[in-house]
Amino acid sequence: MPQRFAGASFFQPFFCPDILPSTRSDLLDNLRSALADIDASPLRRRRKLTESPCAPQIGLNGKPILAFASNDYLGLANHPQLIEAAAEGARRWGVGAGASHLVSGHSAVHEALEGELARFVGCEAALVFSTGYMANIAVMPALLGRDDDIFADRLNHASLVDGALLSRASLRRYAHNDMDVLADMLDASTAQRKLIVTDAVFSMDGDIAPLSKLLELAEQYDAWLLVDDAHGFGVLGPQGRGSLAAANLHSERIILMGTLGKAAGVSGAFIAGSTTLIDWLVQKSRSYIFTTAMPPMLAHVLLCSLELIENADDRRRHLNALIARFREGMVPHGERLMLSETAIQPVIIGDNTATMNIAAALLERDIWTPAIRPPTVPAGSARLRISLSAAHSAAQVDQLVTALSEQLATHARAQT
Ligand code: PMP
Repeated sequence: MPQRFAGASFFQPFFCPDILPSTRSDLLDNLRSALADIDASPLRRRRKLTESPCAPQIGLNGKPILAFASNDYLGLANHPQLIEAAAEGARRWGVGAGASHLVSGHSAVHEALEGELARFVGCEAALVFSTGYMANIAVMPALLGRDDDIFADRLNHASLVDGALLSRASLRRYAHNDMDVLADMLDASTAQRKLIVTDAVFSMDGDIAPLSKLLELAEQYDAWLLVDDAHGFGVLGPQGRGSLAAANLHSERIILMGTLGKAAGVSGAFIAGSTTLIDWLVQKSRSYIFTTAMPPMLAHVLLCSLELIENADDRRRHLNALIARFREGMVPHGERLMLSETAIQPVIIGDNTATMNIAAALLERDIWTPAIRPPTVPAGSARLRISLSAAHSAAQVDQLVTALSEQLATHARAQT
């Protein structure tokens, strides 16, 4: 037993002062001081403790709150059929995969899910990951290296930035959706291998990338096109097949990433593309190879979720009606809205403290609209990230519009 544990009771927590080493380090003091700086900014991130399943009415601080905070766009996260499928999946498959896919964790139900996902999005093959973050950090390091170039939209999700950094390729970021700047960058590139990467629906703005133009440029410059459809899969396109299906785009150079914890209501993600691409990822993707496989019971639930998604036109129609209703209600504050036709409807406030105050005032009225601040969004563009779900009712959206409009009016008066 190491010296510092000598004499400590087995149940004594390891951080108990009398068992700390005698030489003090500055490590914790440095963290405390950095945390105090974050408090002063004020950019401290805090978690809210929910007390009920994901739904429009959610338990928070002991009472029901009307939440516009999840990515559960189709309202499937608490769907009775999926809850039933989870119980059935656990009975059939147990609760854990027990190992990584390449050891012994790849089951027939994972394989079936991959087949169904590929069919659904119209690709040759698909590969299931435990999370979207892991899928995004898998692809770029597997395909590119030091001598290659990645061209990325400035507003891409953090996981795409991390994936690019892990690849060690040069990361060139173009202004949001600016195809002229991207074309110039591609033109100037001498890299042998190039990859363009974009969110399909931008997670904090809700707008859609110019996917046709992106594919055109990828073809012109012989580049891969990696499309992160975390917020389009299940919601956009015919039967919810996603942003690429909505734009009717197909190409062997497209690598599609979709997440299964948002519209699909469960957890996980997938990469879809050609069989060759997927074969390669199985060989080379570190976040696929060196991790325990998704519990097979979740793959079982996801098969059921896919079926629900495919037959959820009513839910998608209702969601679109709610989006239109929200935007119409917010016309008097139109300058604060973004050009978003999707379920992500940010309301830009700008100042960090003001954003926090408005979110807190709404929470006092039992409405939850998450305040998003830098570094998640650019400095000066703090916002309420309102997300709508097919599980919301028109009356709930009206309640949001009324309360939000009053808070924005109060905020505007305070500024003059
Ligand atoms: N990409 C985008 C655009 C996202 O918004 C998210 C999640 N916020 C992810 C990837 C990561 O997905 P997951 O939550 O499944 O890790």
